[in-house]
Amino acid sequence: MRILLLSDIHSNVEALEACLAAAPPTDATVNLGDIVGYGASPNEVTERVCGLGGIFVRGNHDKVVAGIDTLEGFNPIAGVAALWNREQLTSEHLAWLRALPKGPVLSDISSVQYVHGAPDDEDRYVVTLEDAALQLRQATANITFFGHTHIQGAFFLRDGVVQAVRPAYATVGKQETWDLQLESGLNYMINPGSIGQPRDGDWRAAFAVFDSEQRIVTFFRAPYQIRAAQEKILAAGLPARLATRLAAGS
Ligand code: ZN
Repeated sequence: MRILLLSDIHSNVEALEACLAAAPPTDATVNLGDIVGYGASPNEVTERVCGLGGIFVRGNHDKVVAGIDTLEGFNPIAGVAALWNREQLTSEHLAWLRALPKGPVLSDISSVQYVHGAPDDEDRYVVTLEDAALQLRQATANITFFGHTHIQGAFFLRDGVVQAVRPAYATVGKQETWDLQLESGLNYMINPGSIGQPRDGDWRAAFAVFDSEQRIVTFFRAPYQIRAAQEKILAAGLPARLATRLAAGS
């Protein structure tokens, strides 16, 4: 089974469309949350992911935009964008966002689970080796797909030691893929990266495909119409930083 893994789209429809155009045929779609927030196309993105269907996990921005969590913990720029996203969304889309499930959500595939932040806390950031060690040592599934950090890559536990792996791409502007062959018997935490607001120094939209039979995760980077996404953010009167950071991948 081949699974398309999408995360942290953040109302960036230009980036989402580029990823869907770059993606190979898959059997199922999994969305790891933060569908909205930050960007300027919340209705277009919500419509598109609803149409794709599949498994969903809610993100912290989805909760705040949908009004089921407060702005506490959000920086002022994220807060302004969340409120703007809420104003723009149709009542139908807001109701759909409000009903998204909290992770972890179990996969049909044995010992695979999906979360936004971490298995023990949907809002927790897993950034460092220490963060990953805590999760991997208490893991109830061999493979956890997660988002939230906007950093593409994986952590795994071998002989009690946590290691990190990041895709090694050849270019900074072309469409590329990078394969990670999973070893049996190891526990993994794998982040497909952020589609709509990457923070790993690479501006290209990030996603991944998991082949459960081959046990290969293919990481993708897809260039997209970044100017169009930036112009929409500025035209909406959202903070300029939300446009400039897209180009920096930060
Ligand atoms: Zn996010």
